[in-house]
Amino acid sequence: MIIDAHAHIFPDKIAEKASAGISAFYDGMPMDSAGTVDELLQKGGKAGVDRFIVQSVATIPEQVASINNFIADSVAKFPDKLIGFGTLHPDLCDVAGEIERIISLGLRGIKLHSDFQEFNIDDERAFPIYEAAEGRLPILFHCGDKRTDRSSPERLINIVRRFPGLTVIGAHFAGWSIWDKGAEIFADYLKNNEDARIYTDCSSSLYAMSPEHAADIIKKFGAKRVLWGTDYPMWNAEEDLARFMKLPLSPRERELILGENALRMLSDNSPTEVS
Ligand SMILES: [Zn+2]
Repeated sequence: MIIDAHAHIFPDKIAEKASAGISAFYDGMPMDSAGTVDELLQKGGKAGVDRFIVQSVATIPEQVASINNFIADSVAKFPDKLIGFGTLHPDLCDVAGEIERIISLGLRGIKLHSDFQEFNIDDERAFPIYEAAEGRLPILFHCGDKRTDRSSPERLINIVRRFPGLTVIGAHFAGWSIWDKGAEIFADYLKNNEDARIYTDCSSSLYAMSPEHAADIIKKFGAKRVLWGTDYPMWNAEEDLARFMKLPLSPRERELILGENALRMLSDNSPTEVS
């Protein structure tokens, strides 16, 4: 079972524009795809990916409901392939109500990208999201950017301390472009907090380091906490999977990272087992 645990999708009409916007935000980082569901399934399928955790980010509160509907509609079209994460925004009036709606739509988590959404992840403004999600929905945080500290690993640790029942996934080894710092900070925390509900993913990271370096970072988190993901439409699934397979890891570690960890993480936050 291979799960791409970090894939962005957009409605066909705006996919091209949305992925161009992401590319511009990341200083012209080239995007592999436009970001449609069809292309995700086609390219992921070719690479041998079985399932995809799909999400999209609302940059303003007014977009939240329609994006959640779009994610739910997409999952309804491909229920065996897609696992949906909803979006939220700290400035949304009725955060708790939208979390109930996210759950009733069958979505299994929440994605936040605070650099696009312009808030510091540990700001009190965002606490209603964490309060309502704690023990019910995992939150995938974009984490790290050397140009800003809105989503820094330190801030994510502040959230973990304050909401111990919340499952967090700190994307990009919990520190995009500051990879070693993210791993260091989390390794330190995990030493004394083995039961912490913390995951990370290796999306948009393997391209930037040697296989040995990536394996070292994975060992700092522990292989049972790491998810594989492409950050679609940023990276090509086949290429990123090939990069992952070059890491000096055991077959068991690969199995965990490629699928088993994601299923456990989802099941732990759900009244019914996810398989
Ligand atoms: Zn993302």
